[in-house]
Amino acid sequence: HDIQLSPEKLVQALCQADDVDAQMSQLVQLFELSESERRLRHLLVTLFQEVFSEFFPECAILPFGSSVNGFDIHGCDLDLFLDLEKTKTFQANAKEPQGAQAEEGAGPDSDSEDSILSDIDLTTATVPEVLELVAAVLRKCVPGVHSVQVVHSARRPVVKFCHKDSGLLGDISINNRLAVCNTRFLQLCTEADERVRPLVYALRYWAKQQALAGNPFGGGPLLNNYALTLLVLFFLQTRSPPALPTLAQLRELTGDKDQAIVDGWDCSFPQDVSRLEPSTNTESLCSLLAEFFRVFGDHDFAGCVISLQEGRALPLPSFLLSEVGAKLKLGPFNVQDPFELSHNVAANVNEKIAQRFQHCCRDGAKYCRSLQYQRKSSKGKAWGLVRLFQPGVPEAGELGPDGLLITIPFMLMALSPGSREQLCQARDFRRCWFHKVCAAITFVLKDVLKCSCMGPAGESLGQEPTEQSGGEQPRSDERGSLAVSPAKKRPRVEGPVSEEEESVSWSCAVWHRVWMGRRRMRRQLRHLGSPQPDTEQEAGSLEVEEKVSEAIIQQEGESLGAEPLLRFTVCARVGGGQEDTRTLLYFTPAPQQGPLFQDFYHFLQGFLPRMVERYVGRTAWGRQ
Ligand code: ATP
Ligand code: MG
Repeated sequence: HDIQLSPEKLVQALCQADDVDAQMSQLVQLFELSESERRLRHLLVTLFQEVFSEFFPECAILPFGSSVNGFDIHGCDLDLFLDLEKTKTFQANAKEPQGAQAEEGAGPDSDSEDSILSDIDLTTATVPEVLELVAAVLRKCVPGVHSVQVVHSARRPVVKFCHKDSGLLGDISINNRLAVCNTRFLQLCTEADERVRPLVYALRYWAKQQALAGNPFGGGPLLNNYALTLLVLFFLQTRSPPALPTLAQLRELTGDKDQAIVDGWDCSFPQDVSRLEPSTNTESLCSLLAEFFRVFGDHDFAGCVISLQEGRALPLPSFLLSEVGAKLKLGPFNVQDPFELSHNVAANVNEKIAQRFQHCCRDGAKYCRSLQYQRKSSKGKAWGLVRLFQPGVPEAGELGPDGLLITIPFMLMALSPGSREQLCQARDFRRCWFHKVCAAITFVLKDVLKCSCMGPAGESLGQEPTEQSGGEQPRSDERGSLAVSPAKKRPRVEGPVSEEEESVSWSCAVWHRVWMGRRRMRRQLRHLGSPQPDTEQEAGSLEVEEKVSEAIIQQEGESLGAEPLLRFTVCARVGGGQEDTRTLLYFTPAPQQGPLFQDFYHFLQGFLPRMVERYVGRTAWGRQ
């Protein structure tokens, strides 16, 4: 069997399809496990069941993950759960009489297999102890299995193995009943709507090609396939009309026999798909894929938690005040497990990957608007999914739809616990946050980078809550007119941010190459024995960065009266969505500034969010 599909064959097959919907269905056929692969997996499960039953009477081997969840691909790993619940009971029951017999000599059927169980007390043994035992059984008693290894470091420790003849890789875990549950849930979703599989296959492959998801060895900052799949299911829950029900709705449909609590979490949902109402959503696969990109290209991942339970994105402040919210590990990408509600399945994703995910979605959305996506090429050119699957690592911070865009995420965790709590409780937290970010930007541009920021004189956004709090006040090193003022633009924001404050514009001028050689200057300053303590933390503080700029300016020599090096305007506004907490900064350079502005902008992409974080982290939050 041709297990590994070559990229050329994939392109060829997809280009021959009639339309994007057909391409997506084709993708499933090309990737899914063949009958013989399935049979092999089934045989292996049976073999494991037989062998393990000898050592762990009444145990069960339950496959979960991609082999059985409906999103299988050639060569995907075989995830197995060894259920020892009944074995524990068996052992507990067996102990009593056995103990009595032991005093009178050996029991009648104390053969060698039982001895392994007599080495360990399953009710008190630790997970690593049991896994070592499982590994020993695999090594010694399962034919055709090699490279057996216990991995203790994973969130769920597992025993890894390889099946020699097929090259199949597998995992056995023991404390993972929730995974069996969520596997069944994914399966149910594929049964509920036939668009689920093609859409997930397409997005998994796209994400893999963009190096956003699917690290085959687990770990690392990439999205894992489970998290990505949940994102797609969430997307389908939030269509109008919905293409999939939420878990809360599914719970309503659950019969008595399907009620289930696992590890304290409610995992009730109907096992039989016929209990579900068919969806009235009729969107085509082609348009669903385009919509996925559009929706997540503009989604505030850091500012909310994606909930499949409720089928909506929960805004952070109120979520954090909830019981599970306090436990969930927040990051730049927040996807709540559908059952284990305090678990963020994407907690491993870092800022860079989160941003790149969004950029790739925007690119995808843009491409999907083109005819090349929608129509089959008559000239044999790449069209539809094919172009989407071309590998690419887009540069972070490339041209946004309205110019050069830098996104400042919601950095709740950067705040002191006191400020955090105050912000969470603020009635209009988005507005408070936006004000704070605007103040931070003013401070960084004017005080740290010594730029001129001008706008119509008068109202100053500097009057944000920081100043009454007695925290560090943004100072202004006057260099010409430094007034900052709000200006009305882009009437797009809904929600609690009031109209007049929805956007703020600054007109800025840069007089010195303050973005160049900063690292060197920082090092030099340290050697000169500046009064700052020489700790890692201090490097990069607002004060140090201010000194660095001053030193660069001094080195360059004053060039007063000359034209500025660069002129640009920057417009800050709150992200577009209802609950969006991000601040979007649109940069428009004055005409003909070429590469110099590009350099400055690239520098700001990294520098500005970091400095904003420092600023919001150390200034106290004022009274609301
Ligand atoms: P593939 O193996 O093709 O990457 P998969 O769905 O099997 O896809 P695995 O990473 O092997 O993904 O995970 C197997 C199962 O373990 C998942 O289906 C899910 O039930 C559970 N799982 C994986 N990652 C997580 C996670 N981050 N949080 C919670 N459960 C997870
Ligand atoms: Mg797997």
